Amino acid sequence: MSRLSFLLLLLLLTTCSTASDRSGQGPSRSKSHRRISYHATIGDGAHSIQVVMSLPAGSSRRLWLDPDLAQYVSSPEVLSGPEWVPLDRSDEVWWIPEKVEKTPTVRWTFDLRQAARDFNQVRVAKAHFDAYLSSPSAWLLRPHGMDDDDPISLRVTTPPGTSFSTGLFPSQDGYSFLAEHMHRLPYTVLGKFRRRNLRIGDDEVIVALLQGQIGLEPDDLIDWVQKRAEAVASYYGQFPVHRALVILAPGGRGIASASGNGGAAVYFPLSSRATRNKLERDWVLVHEMVHLAFPQVPSLHNWIDEGLATYVEPLARHRLGLMAETKVWGDLVDGLPQGLPKQGDQGLDRTHTWGRTYWGGALYCLLAELEIRRKTRNQKGLMDALRGILAAGGNISQAWSLERTLTAADQAIGHPVMTELYTAMKHDPYPVDLDGLWSDLGISKPRSGIVFNPSAPLAGIRQSITENLSDKEAR
Ligand SMILES: [Zn+2]
Repeated sequence: MSRLSFLLLLLLLTTCSTASDRSGQGPSRSKSHRRISYHATIGDGAHSIQVVMSLPAGSSRRLWLDPDLAQYVSSPEVLSGPEWVPLDRSDEVWWIPEKVEKTPTVRWTFDLRQAARDFNQVRVAKAHFDAYLSSPSAWLLRPHGMDDDDPISLRVTTPPGTSFSTGLFPSQDGYSFLAEHMHRLPYTVLGKFRRRNLRIGDDEVIVALLQGQIGLEPDDLIDWVQKRAEAVASYYGQFPVHRALVILAPGGRGIASASGNGGAAVYFPLSSRATRNKLERDWVLVHEMVHLAFPQVPSLHNWIDEGLATYVEPLARHRLGLMAETKVWGDLVDGLPQGLPKQGDQGLDRTHTWGRTYWGGALYCLLAELEIRRKTRNQKGLMDALRGILAAGGNISQAWSLERTLTAADQAIGHPVMTELYTAMKHDPYPVDLDGLWSDLGISKPRSGIVFNPSAPLAGIRQSITENLSDKEAR
């Protein structure tokens, strides 16, 4: 054995023992033995899905699904020796009979067509021409009592002429995620649609272009998505996730939204009257892609998710020349007063109005930006803090506490700015003198347009915030 291979062996042994010490368990109790495996076979036209589930030994014999969705499950059966036998059903759960072996195999069929007719929601089931939008959470039965970190895998088989694309992250032979994500897995599309893979640096964006009338060429739409993804990647230094699904639905109803938990996906309904000009001015796709860069935090903190998307979206577009500097600041001057506390306000975590959620959250972002720049002598900004969250592994595929997320941001800056500002604003109205702030930044808004004052005390900070890539190249 060479000296090098001996060192490698030593390193390997050290690593292995550290890993098992940390979990406090031997290899026989490794989490991989707790893996639940699903195999979904999509039916013709994607109207139904047949699922086979293999459960590990020790799983609960009680299986469940959201009670509103149980009616779309038919023929749930378990393998007993060579035969399939029906599951027992009572108290809104299915039971695996005691006589069945320790590692049961269960199968059922989910009626996606009927669920789409009844729900018409992207996160459950929704029809769009010859395709369905859904989330696997809607059709995967699961045992009671799973641990958050129990591993789950999903394999999918499609009939000829039917496609399947999902925001779930791929693994060796399908997709894998954790039990903690199970309640709200990312958007998925099944049926007939076009698919294109875009490269954004080292990351991948899969565009699923659904059927529907639109007066634009597919290539124009793909270029439009690519440019917006690049704007977001430019702000964050990388695309927020290594792989995301963007579903474009021409003529689709509903509002655009992002979903995560084990992956990343965006649903984007496109107006049939969309023109190239209208799309050039669109801000919504960038807003949704900014959501991909923040972990899923409890819903009482919605203000930070929406506030970041509101604040970062114009800056990201500005960086690639898709929005003028005067428009970035003009929109903030117009919008931010809606985020100020009104009478009776109880702070951002307790006041869930539209204004406080979108613009109150954006106000938090601007204040954090200014404080980070003050603390670091304008060497760092909110962008660096947000890049720190991504570098720590935080993005929409993860469910984190807000405290953990802000700590990751603060560590990238070297000062607890985000945490301290959150503490100050979460339960307190925290009034802000916006007029004084604009004056300090050197921004005034006469009857039309925006005027910058280069000798204002914070003019340098204002310039740094909206410095775009060509500014940097010019220096
Ligand atoms: Zn949003």
